[in-house]
Amino acid sequence: MTPAALDAADPLAFARERFRIPDGVIYLDGNSLGALPAAAPDRLAQAIEHEWGERLIASWNEAGWVDLPRRLGDRIAPLIGATPGSVVVADSTSVNLFKCAAGALQARRPRRVILAEASDFPTDAYVLEGLAALTGAELRLVAREDVRSALTQEVAVLVLTHVHYRSGAINDMAALSAAAQAVGALTVWDLSHSAGALAVRLDADGADYAIGCGYKYLNGGPGAPAFLYVAPRHQATFANPLSGWFGHAAPFAFQQAYAPTAGAARGQAGTPPILSMIALEQGLATFDGIDMTAARLKAMQLSQAFLEGALALGLQPACPTDPQLRGNQVTLHHPHAYAVVQALIADGVVGDFREPDIMRFGFAPLYLRHADVAEALERLSLVLVEERWRDARFQVRLPVT
Ligand SMILES: *Cc1c(COP(=O)(O)O)cnc(C)c1O
Repeated sequence: MTPAALDAADPLAFARERFRIPDGVIYLDGNSLGALPAAAPDRLAQAIEHEWGERLIASWNEAGWVDLPRRLGDRIAPLIGATPGSVVVADSTSVNLFKCAAGALQARRPRRVILAEASDFPTDAYVLEGLAALTGAELRLVAREDVRSALTQEVAVLVLTHVHYRSGAINDMAALSAAAQAVGALTVWDLSHSAGALAVRLDADGADYAIGCGYKYLNGGPGAPAFLYVAPRHQATFANPLSGWFGHAAPFAFQQAYAPTAGAARGQAGTPPILSMIALEQGLATFDGIDMTAARLKAMQLSQAFLEGALALGLQPACPTDPQLRGNQVTLHHPHAYAVVQALIADGVVGDFREPDIMRFGFAPLYLRHADVAEALERLSLVLVEERWRDARFQVRLPVT
C-alpha cells in the first residue's frame, strides 16, 4: 500500500488533530519531548486566569488541584497495565527512581546490592550511585548480557529500563521480573521510553516498582512531572524515603508523626506543581479512546518503514531490526551523525543525536502519518546524497538536543 492509502486506512488518524504540529515539520523526537496538545494553551490560560487568578487558594479544593497527582496516576494506569490506585504522578523520573529503589532496598535488608545495566541512561546510574553512598549499598553495573547471571541471592533490587534509550532494545519484563523474583530481588522498571509507546503490562508481567517520564510519549510538556508505580502487593509496606506531607494519610491534620497514605499515593513528597500537572493532564487526554495495542502496531509500521528506507540508503542500524524487539524508535550510525541530524532539522525533520555517532528518530503513533515517514526518508536521502551535512553551520555543537 502507498503511504497515502495507509493513512486513509489508519484507525488512529483522528488523533493527529489533538496536537499542534508546526507546518512543514516532521517531528521524529516525540520520544524526547512530546508535541503540544492542541487543547493545552487554552486550558492552561484558564487555569492561570480563573483558577489561580480569580479563585486563588480556593482552587486547591474547588478545581481539584489537591487530587491531581492521584487522578493523573489513574489516567496513566491503563496505559501501562496497572491497577487503579497503583500509580501516582510526582516529582521527576530521577527523584522517583531514588524513592522506589530506596524503598525496595529497605524492604530487602540486609541485602545491599543494587544491580543495574551499565549502558542504560546515565542519570539512572547517577541516582543509584547517590543512593548507594547514602545507604552503604553497593551498586553493581553489568553489561546487558550479564544481567541474568549477576542476579544472585545478594541482590536486593534490579533496576532496568524497559526500552533502551539509545538502541531501543526492549527488555523482557516478564522474564526478567521472574528471574529477579526467583532470587528474592525486587525490580524497578524505568518506563521513560515505553509509557504511551508500548502496550506495557506492569501487573501481568510481575513488576514490583516502575517509574516513567511525563514529557516524552505522554506529551505532558517540558519538565512535566513523572510517575511512579507500586505493585499492589507492596503498597502497604512501601517506605518512601522522601516522606513528605503529600504522602501522608492526613496531610492537612498537621500531626506530629508521619503516617503514610494508602496505595501508590504515598510515593508523593511535597506540593505538586499544579500548572505542570494541568499540562500533563492535557497530554494524557490525547490518549482518550486510544487502544495501546493499536498504537504500538502503528508505531511499529512507521518505524519499520523508516528503518527499511534508511538501510536502503546504506545506513547501518544501531537498533534491533525486528520491530517486535524494539521500542518506537530507530537509531542509525553515521560518522557525522551530529551534522546529519542538524541538516535534517534545518530541513524540517526533527530527530536527535546521541553520543558517539548515533542518529535517533522516534515514532509517536498519535500524530505521525505514514506520509510523514516517506517524506522524512526523501529529505534524509537528499541530506546524504547532496552531502548537505558538510555545511559549516551544522558542525557546531549546541548544548541541548
Ligand atoms: C528521559 C529519561 C530520564 C529523565 O529523567 P528526568 O528526571 O526527567 O531528568 C530518566 N531515565 C531514563 C531512562 C530516561 O529515558
